[in-house]
Amino acid sequence: MRVTLLGTGDTTGTPTVGCDCDTCTAARDRGVERTRFSVHVENERVDESLLIDFSPDFRYQFLRDDVSLPDAAVITHVHFDHLDGLGNVFRVLDSLEVYAADETDPQTGKSVAETVDDDYHYLDPLTVVPTTPLEPVSVCGLEVTLVPVDHPPLVCYGLRVEDPVTGAALSITGDTSYDIPEASREVLADPDLLLADGIVPADLCEYHPIGGRHEDDAGVPRTFGTKHMTREGALAMAEVLNADRTRLVHLAHYYPADEAFAEPLAVDGEEYVL
Ligand SMILES: [Zn+2]
Ligand SMILES: [Zn+2]
Ligand SMILES: [Zn+2]
Repeated sequence: MRVTLLGTGDTTGTPTVGCDCDTCTAARDRGVERTRFSVHVENERVDESLLIDFSPDFRYQFLRDDVSLPDAAVITHVHFDHLDGLGNVFRVLDSLEVYAADETDPQTGKSVAETVDDDYHYLDPLTVVPTTPLEPVSVCGLEVTLVPVDHPPLVCYGLRVEDPVTGAALSITGDTSYDIPEASREVLADPDLLLADGIVPADLCEYHPIGGRHEDDAGVPRTFGTKHMTREGALAMAEVLNADRTRLVHLAHYYPADEAFAEPLAVDGEEYVL
């Protein structure tokens, strides 16, 4: 499978609109960017593509990276930066299956699948497929398994995408704290490529109103606030999951400029063949 990182930024992206911080300036100078989150997975065996999350930057990303339009999609959760590009399919795609979790979110009273169905009821090409977490489904010739992660107050899911023919595996943590349930870690384990949420370096937790959580033995927070892993948390999770290769994603412009483009922090347009 061919994996293209269409969007590697957090909800404001880098550069952020109206921002002239050192990191946004450095991104402009280098000609790199981190648009809102989305990952394109092409199964070359069957010539079909799966899109993970619908970034508000969908149109720009597909023009920029010249990838094939999706045959199916997964929505991990209902935050703006992962869902609100879905309206772009209007007059672009004739049909699209959208896989989303079927568990009711106590916060909204609806599952992710139901929210997608309700919010985009007017989009005729869509067929929402309610999907049970931890049970693999076959999509685009690939085996896709949603796994519950921890992104309060909403339900949110990571996923594993595995090619049943070659055994190649991509794991994505989704937006999550370090507190990924054990059953989910088991599904995400041993990937060829891990994309892990590492929104900021751990030392920025001092600027979060509630600080950091899930400290390691040295007292370094692996979670920023409640919703996302720190860089250190994401790297620790990569160790736990025994990933062959790791790229950090969902990155904020709050990374200091001299750390923001260091390995293994991803930028848009990276491509991996697994
Ligand atoms: Zn900035
Ligand atoms: Zn989110
Ligand atoms: Zn997000």
